[in-house]
Amino acid sequence: MGYGRYAPSPSGELHLGNLRTALLAWLFARSTGRGFLLRIEDLDRARAGAEEAQLRDLAAIGLTWDGVAKRQTDRSAGYADALDRLRAAGLLYECFCTRRDISEAPRAPHTPPGAYPGTCRDLPPTERDARRAERPAALRLRSDVVQFTVRDLLHGEYTGVVDDFVIVRNDGVPAYNFAVVVDDRLQGVDQVVRGDDLLSSAPRQAYLATLLDAPVPEYAHVPLVLNADGKRLAKRDGAVTLGDLSTTRVVDGVEYDAVGPDRVREVLLESLGLPGGSLAAALEAFDPAALPREPWILDSPLTGV
Ligand SMILES: [Zn+2]
Repeated sequence: MGYGRYAPSPSGELHLGNLRTALLAWLFARSTGRGFLLRIEDLDRARAGAEEAQLRDLAAIGLTWDGVAKRQTDRSAGYADALDRLRAAGLLYECFCTRRDISEAPRAPHTPPGAYPGTCRDLPPTERDARRAERPAALRLRSDVVQFTVRDLLHGEYTGVVDDFVIVRNDGVPAYNFAVVVDDRLQGVDQVVRGDDLLSSAPRQAYLATLLDAPVPEYAHVPLVLNADGKRLAKRDGAVTLGDLSTTRVVDGVEYDAVGPDRVREVLLESLGLPGGSLAAALEAFDPAALPREPWILDSPLTGV
């Protein structure tokens, strides 16, 4: 059996929405006999101390993982290998477009909104050389499909756009979709549980996995936690991290006691329709088919009991 994983970006403390997704990833993995890995997605941005704080908070709510957390920045050889394979197969091309070039490019009628219009796909070599002198190129995938279907444990069959998406950004950093696929393949991850805001990226990643002879993982895109305004929960929504909740707080003139990690886990598990007493009890009761399909709205301050 393979692995499930939780893969936070070390950009700050985890909030309740992140912790709830981490609990779900753990429950999906452990309930199917899989191992569970933590991966630090630090290619993009890493704030000093954030990784340590995240690992500490995940442990505080009782999560355990196999081995040590792995960082993407320690995997450059893996990305280089995968890049060589794509290049050797003629599946990469240089793109010199700015964001503005892409938004202003003429579009063929069948190009879906948000998809790369293919401007640089067949640039004549002389033009390519000229553009190289102006700005560094990103590398895009020469995709031969326009859509791809994945199977999701909560959403069923999901078909989404696959365009010539970026593989390596023009600053040389592996792009998110590419890094995720390489990481999962190298780590033996065959189950991906994450927020449903990422569902639309699954077809691109699954398609890329097939090009790299990697197994397409089992997906479960889980509902997010929203604030009282129905927006995705964020740090500015108040006391939403274990750190915030660990001291007494005053909200709208009312004083609230500190809330510890055990209580946070209990509230999060109960929001999933699971017994909150312990992770073991939640695991025993866990049934993906019975999970809520709607976002969980956090519209009042979390309190102790
Ligand atoms: Zn381009």
